[in-house]
Amino acid sequence: MRMMLCFCLLLLVLSATCTVLAAPKQPLVILAGNVWDGLADAPQGPAEILVVDGKIAAVGKTVPRPEGARVVDLSTKFVMPGFIDSHIHLTGGSKVIANLASLNDAALALVGVSACEKVLNNGFTTVRDAGDFSIVAWVVGELKKSVEAGDIKGPRIINGGHMISAIGGHFDFGGMIRNGMTMEQVSVAEGTTGLKRAVHNQARHGVDWIKFAGSGGFLSPSDGPEDLSYSQEEMNALVAAARDLGKPVFVHAYGDEAVRRAALAGVRSIEHGSLSSVATLEMLASKGIYLVPTQIAVVANARETAKGNLNMSVSEITREKNIKYAPRVLECAGNVAKSNVKIALGTDLGTYDFTVNGAKEFGEMVLNGLSPLRALKAGTSMAAELLSLNAGSIAPGKLADLVALPGNPFDDITVTEKVSFVMKDGVVYRDDK
Ligand SMILES: [Zn+2]
Repeated sequence: MRMMLCFCLLLLVLSATCTVLAAPKQPLVILAGNVWDGLADAPQGPAEILVVDGKIAAVGKTVPRPEGARVVDLSTKFVMPGFIDSHIHLTGGSKVIANLASLNDAALALVGVSACEKVLNNGFTTVRDAGDFSIVAWVVGELKKSVEAGDIKGPRIINGGHMISAIGGHFDFGGMIRNGMTMEQVSVAEGTTGLKRAVHNQARHGVDWIKFAGSGGFLSPSDGPEDLSYSQEEMNALVAAARDLGKPVFVHAYGDEAVRRAALAGVRSIEHGSLSSVATLEMLASKGIYLVPTQIAVVANARETAKGNLNMSVSEITREKNIKYAPRVLECAGNVAKSNVKIALGTDLGTYDFTVNGAKEFGEMVLNGLSPLRALKAGTSMAAELLSLNAGSIAPGKLADLVALPGNPFDDITVTEKVSFVMKDGVVYRDDK
């Protein structure tokens, strides 16, 4: 075992040294006051992290120091993997939602550029976009390209394209169709053939994941959270078409039956799932389907509604839905905490403003009964597992995505909202002195 370890270390040092020679970026040695690797049950104490060529090359009490390495002193900080938001809408925000019919795609692109910078600044190094607010353009795909090219600052983007929706369903922008546009152009689709075409259309525009609305919602004007958008047969056809193209599927679903159908169809993650029954949560756990509960958006609102603090900024229809479902949303949140479902953090930012720090979701999940460990994993290693990402934990070979906090989030989860240092792919984007 010991020999094996030495051999591995030697290999690491060798590979690190080799990479350094070819590395365009200067190697970094981070001195961390306390480290949590994204996986262990508790923080692991002071450590050094060697970053070479955008990846973590070594972690330990001491690490090799390649020639010319720069030392980054975070010895008074808590260092953990960069946060991952598995549910965001980079082209959204309250102004966008209020003016969707009149905003053009250039405006949405500018919203997205600004959102990218804010989100990265708050420590989110990867996000999965859960629905482009552009009616016909593919703005999120362009944001992704710009971030990858280094033209704009932002998190790594996993593009969920346009949310496929039924006519009058949760993401039906059909009512806003301009000059001769077709339903297909706005990703509104029905029937097994129609859904297959919609999936192919998403793939043609280069999306990474397929998103669809399996139920209605709170904000949508013409349906409710328990309304069902698609039959079992339709969901099966959609997921099968996506699978044939190697695209995983995620579904917007509130009501229990929509969650159940989507799980049976074989989606990889359920978004919201806020009215799931205990039996359905057990099914998700047994099938290994991830839940992205977006509690800061849904449960926080239900808690305030139950106290009588109604959200007056939403429409009357939405307010009525909030009142009707608040008790069941709160009950479900309790059941989620008691379940063994794999939880990934999602903020649903973009359905509200980017002035809110998405890291509040960590605290919200803890408030709703998740342990700090489960909440922290939800925003790091578990989300990386959901997204098949070589990040979300601090180990040799992983992408060097790191954040530093002023304290230990296992003791006070809200320190996740006080990020002072952000590294993505080995590049430092924020370092408050
Ligand atoms: Zn959403």
